[in-house]
Amino acid sequence: METYGFERMVDYLLSNAGSLMHHIPMVRNLFMRKARQAAYEYLIKENPDRRPIAVQMEKLQITLSLMETAFKRMEEGLYSKNVVNRASKIVIEELMLEPKGKTRQAKEAFRAQYGRRPPGFLVIAPTLKCNLRCKGCYAKSFDGSSGTIPFSLLDRILTEKTDLWGSHYVAWVGGEPTVYRSEGKDILDFAERHLDNLFLMFTNGTLIDQEVAKRMADLGNVVPQVSVEGFEKETDERRGKGVFKKILRAFENMREAGVPSGSPSHRCDTMPNCLPVMNSSTSTSRKRRQPSHGSFSICRLAETTAWI
Ligand code: SF4
Repeated sequence: METYGFERMVDYLLSNAGSLMHHIPMVRNLFMRKARQAAYEYLIKENPDRRPIAVQMEKLQITLSLMETAFKRMEEGLYSKNVVNRASKIVIEELMLEPKGKTRQAKEAFRAQYGRRPPGFLVIAPTLKCNLRCKGCYAKSFDGSSGTIPFSLLDRILTEKTDLWGSHYVAWVGGEPTVYRSEGKDILDFAERHLDNLFLMFTNGTLIDQEVAKRMADLGNVVPQVSVEGFEKETDERRGKGVFKKILRAFENMREAGVPSGSPSHRCDTMPNCLPVMNSSTSTSRKRRQPSHGSFSICRLAETTAWI
């Protein structure tokens, strides 16, 4: 009876974690401490794949930096209510606490069958088509219906990934995920059908208008990462004239709606230039001038994802 009561309390705390963290600084600090500790235990002490310690330290720094920024933005009220509730719940349940229920069963069954832990997330290109024609990219080779995974098939892949791996993370790559159309559905329909998953979306950002940003904010489980090459000159040089301005508008739309976003740099040499881009805006509104999440180099991300 006592256990039942305790579990109910934990469930209550989890399902209200976002709101509690948002409103009560003490709860926020508690979760932050727990998150730091969990990241350290897993990456440095456990180091399950026996990676070099320097690599693990970098992963830890990236993880802590993203977490700290997310908590700070939450404190500043820059995320929509659904982002705070839904994304926090997934992150807390998956990263900070021991897996429970179906997630735990799936992880244990996978380990029993294959002798290793299941992958932590799925990286998949829903389509290889794109609305841009960047220099050196293969995406221009895919037009018409080629290079697009049918909606029903990809939906099944996501369901099985969650059920069989106990994983709640997806990284959309491409092509450009926002041009995805199949069976009358678009890319955000996946997020709506899989609310227990967090979707990191690598995107060129040019199609994130106010309406798309609002849908993302309402869903609360989509985190776009908008690619830039640097400032206007470098970005337009590779991605096409006017793309940089569209990216700035996308960031403004997402900030206004309360969508967490970031920006991976495709070139390490231009990385320092990317950091201020999310902050670039002609707006005088404080909210519009705030980056809503963080920035990291795709080269480092590759290292980071290699262990999952
Ligand atoms: S936006 Fe990305 S996928 Fe599209 S053409 Fe450019 S590099 Fe390729």
